Amino acid sequence: MADTLPLERDLLRRYDVTGPRYTSYPTAAQFTEVFDAQRYRQRVIESNEDPMPRPLSLYVHVPFCRTVCFYCACNKVITANYRRAERYLDRLIQELDLQAALFDDDRPVEQLHLGGGTPTYFTDEDLARLIEAIRERFPLAAPDVREFSIEVDPRTVDRDRIARLADLGFNRLSLGVQDFDADVQKAINRIQGVRDTADVVAEARAQGFHSVNLDLMYGLPLQTPQRLSRTLDAVLDIRPDRIALYNYAHMPQMFRIQRQISEASLPPAETKLTLLIEAMQRLAEGGYQYIGMDHFALPGDELAQAANDGTLHRNFQGYATRPDLDLIGLGASSIGQIGDAYSQNKRDPEGHAEAVAAGRLPIWRGVALSADDRLRRDVIQAVMCQGRVDFHAVEERHGVVFRQYFREALDELTPLVDDGLVHVGHNGLAVTPRGQFFLRNVAMPFDAYLADARNQRRFSRVI
Ligand code: SF4
Repeated sequence: MADTLPLERDLLRRYDVTGPRYTSYPTAAQFTEVFDAQRYRQRVIESNEDPMPRPLSLYVHVPFCRTVCFYCACNKVITANYRRAERYLDRLIQELDLQAALFDDDRPVEQLHLGGGTPTYFTDEDLARLIEAIRERFPLAAPDVREFSIEVDPRTVDRDRIARLADLGFNRLSLGVQDFDADVQKAINRIQGVRDTADVVAEARAQGFHSVNLDLMYGLPLQTPQRLSRTLDAVLDIRPDRIALYNYAHMPQMFRIQRQISEASLPPAETKLTLLIEAMQRLAEGGYQYIGMDHFALPGDELAQAANDGTLHRNFQGYATRPDLDLIGLGASSIGQIGDAYSQNKRDPEGHAEAVAAGRLPIWRGVALSADDRLRRDVIQAVMCQGRVDFHAVEERHGVVFRQYFREALDELTPLVDDGLVHVGHNGLAVTPRGQFFLRNVAMPFDAYLADARNQRRFSRVI
């Protein structure tokens, strides 16, 4: 992928449709309760029997936060009652017991990700208890292979806590920022100083963290190009290895807390386009490479290297450097992936706790991929990660004639071809530099489920 991309206002307007982010295919909208704990167990048994069993990745969801951000669309619990977090940790450890009993012990944990919510809501002692519980139940990969990452709210940590996280084995960090402007922060109920954030990043560097990511958002209430520009000044000074620039999707009918944000305070559509265009320009000028959907990285970062050598992957955390490991989701609402099946835990902590306390895996729903799903997943991944699809490679792998199988999808791409966003040749398709911002528009014609209009309303807009 190129490190700069021309963003044209007219194209942004025309291709601003709703669509999935393709962190999985099929997306969670296709998960059903037919896929239950019994089916999950069966998948794990099959994965153990693979001649080359895949290493493991663990995702742990920690849903607690002390205060609520008004833009939030996450599965979270706002509470000052730490007892709730302690009880949740007890259940997580019981869930680790249930999961560890299923997996053969020749499958090391190469990746661990703590997300939320706010993982650093847990005290250092309780984080240590969690890591120790994992260590006692699963073999861990060698330190130089491990990717242990944690989402950090800079308002909940200081330099000492970052050092503790390093002691626990974490080597990647992601920090929420969104915007440093005081008025915007007030409007989203998230007050966070530049200094505190910069200190956390500096300490992470001092502790040898490999990669530090900052999350930003455009389209927030009261945001103007000038305000966002000042935030970008500060962010470029801090110079994290990676930056995620997300679109704020105002969906108060789905996320009640967003009703705290008045529609009138949101930037008008044209201003929002300006915010996006200018932010992307600034990041490119600041030396950041566009990786794909919302993600930027400095050229030395492993994500940029993976993008350049064609080994980028996409999973539930966004872009990743490694091919799919088997992913165990732990905690309320977590998603897992074993081979060609996805599963999701019960959404609410109470439902999760009830199942685990009764000795049952807290699986709520999931999906086992059909042959058609696997084929389309390969194509969509190739678009989202490599920006190109080699028809012959797909044909060899899936036993189809690409141009016949995807005749309708290729027809649907015609307007994008005419607009110079994608080139379709005899042997493959390639997203052009002009089309790199529109990866999901290119991927969507290959999605068999989007025809169902009901699904489309579940997804956010492209911009
Ligand atoms: S955005 Fe993050 S920190 Fe804020 S309420 Fe949501 S989960 Fe909690």
